[in-house]
Amino acid sequence: MINESNNEKTLEIYERFYFKTLDALTSKTKPQDLKKTLSNARKDTDNLLNEELLSSGSKIACCAGCFYCCHLKVDVMPGEAFIIADFIRTNFSTEKQQSVLTKAKSNWEKVEPMTYSEQFVANLPCPLLDNGVCSVYPVRPGLCRIHHSTKVEPCKESFEEPELLSQPDYYVNNVRLATARSFIATNKAFENLGFDTKAYDINGALIECFSNPHAEKRWRKMKSAFPKNMIAKEPQEQANEKS
Ligand code: SF4
Repeated sequence: MINESNNEKTLEIYERFYFKTLDALTSKTKPQDLKKTLSNARKDTDNLLNEELLSSGSKIACCAGCFYCCHLKVDVMPGEAFIIADFIRTNFSTEKQQSVLTKAKSNWEKVEPMTYSEQFVANLPCPLLDNGVCSVYPVRPGLCRIHHSTKVEPCKESFEEPELLSQPDYYVNNVRLATARSFIATNKAFENLGFDTKAYDINGALIECFSNPHAEKRWRKMKSAFPKNMIAKEPQEQANEKS
């Protein structure tokens, strides 16, 4: 089990995930290995979450059919968006694919003009939420995998009053620390090799995946995969960029 003061364990997790991802990315050359490597790393994070949860003796309240957190802002790194798009193309009917894109477009129209803080409390359902269940659960983004809660009430309160940002922390601390380290380490390995790992809005990213055949090629060539307006900014950041 790890805690805030156990730097050795968190460092070990970071290094384990970082070097495993780096080794996989640098020792293989097949094009699909980029996505496979990311996919495997995210599954390792799932396993880590379960191990840490078991050793902590804590129970989380998350279960199928509870989807308050699926109304929070969801960001994805490009590799995750391409994996989700592949899953949708393979497993969804044409009508269901269209339904996801319609929801993503509707959300995107609303959130595009917003600042990051405004998007954070917009309370829009994720376009991948289907009858209260995640329709891409096996390939959901890393942020969704590491999010968890020990109590339903605060999730419900934050859903009903999204602007109330002073919610107490209902994570299991060791689980949060371990999984966040694994998530950051995996992303860092991709980033250090030159791949775009920026956090894009899930709605915009999905629209791009299905409308721009060059997006994945750009990512593979280590360029920015999606337009930069898909990364929300605060007003000060926007002003700094323009000056
Ligand atoms: S990707 Fe799935 S788990 Fe994540 S917010 Fe969307 S519906 Fe919820």
